[in-house]
Amino acid sequence: MAEFDLNFKDVVEFANDVIIITKAYPLDEPGPEIVYVNRAFTELTGYSLEEVAGKSPRILQSSVADEDTTRIIRQGLEDKVPVRVTIMNYSKDGKGYWLDLSIMPLRNSQGEVTHFAAIERDVTEQVNTEEALKDSSRKDPLTKLLNKAAFDEILENEFSRFKRNDDIFSLLMIDIDHFKSINDNYGHPVGDIAIETVARSCEKYLRSHDVMARVGGEEFCVLLPCTKKKAAFTIARRLREIIMNTSIATASGDVSMTISVGVSEVENADIDHADVYKRADENLYRAKKAGRNRVCM
Ligand code: GH3
Ligand code: MG
Ligand code: MG
Repeated sequence: MAEFDLNFKDVVEFANDVIIITKAYPLDEPGPEIVYVNRAFTELTGYSLEEVAGKSPRILQSSVADEDTTRIIRQGLEDKVPVRVTIMNYSKDGKGYWLDLSIMPLRNSQGEVTHFAAIERDVTEQVNTEEALKDSSRKDPLTKLLNKAAFDEILENEFSRFKRNDDIFSLLMIDIDHFKSINDNYGHPVGDIAIETVARSCEKYLRSHDVMARVGGEEFCVLLPCTKKKAAFTIARRLREIIMNTSIATASGDVSMTISVGVSEVENADIDHADVYKRADENLYRAKKAGRNRVCM
């Protein structure tokens, strides 16, 4: 049996996964004391056993670690049951990495939990790939703005918040005027630059909590939370002026453009978010009818 134990020690020491053994206490700050780390731990974190012995694995976490995750870990430690989470940790040189972390209680011969074992695997690459995929399904590749599907989801949530708490909001529906002629006269690539220019110029002016999306070829929608339509109208007029005074440099000279904007505010009679969207679209149509380069509400 003794020989068997020795082999286990080597397995742990040379495992590819990070292994940390802590005492079962203290659960409160500063957290359970580290008594052992394997070689993979030092390779990943840059800390030797001497540097971390007596300290808590919490030194590897950020002070603003995800609350849900830290609660799950804390509960597992208190209840002395295994837990498994994905968590961000930081190496000695400050580099962040994602871990698939399993913690399990270790019992002595009397059945008392005296230690915890943490087994960790670096899953940074997987997490980054998943996030990039999630991101690409929500974003328009040309402007990097949200796409229509992602915007609809956000608008739906905003609408529910309105129904629950009366949190009003307004929408701007923006469409580039005579965009076909930009494509026809200067070519599709210049058309693309025009779309990007509108996106960046508007984004620069909007507030950080406003949400802008590309909802069609040269159509954009902006959600203005906590904004009544009068204030939304002022924002729309400013955007119209900004675009009118922005030009794109091309081989055949500067190209300028204008936008038309429809404004709507959420109303009590609205059944769902599509009603608010539809009203902004109708007002955009009126702006076009009235001669373009204008804002209607
Ligand atoms: P209006 O003032 O009535 O809006 O006139 P318009 O010419 O802008 O009319 P419309 O909205 O019908 O034209 C949209 C055009 O945008 C048609 C389409 O070929 C072009 N388009 C759609 N997506 C893209 C894109 O990603 N890049 C470029 N360059 N053109 C696009
Ligand atoms: Mg257009
Ligand atoms: Mg259009």
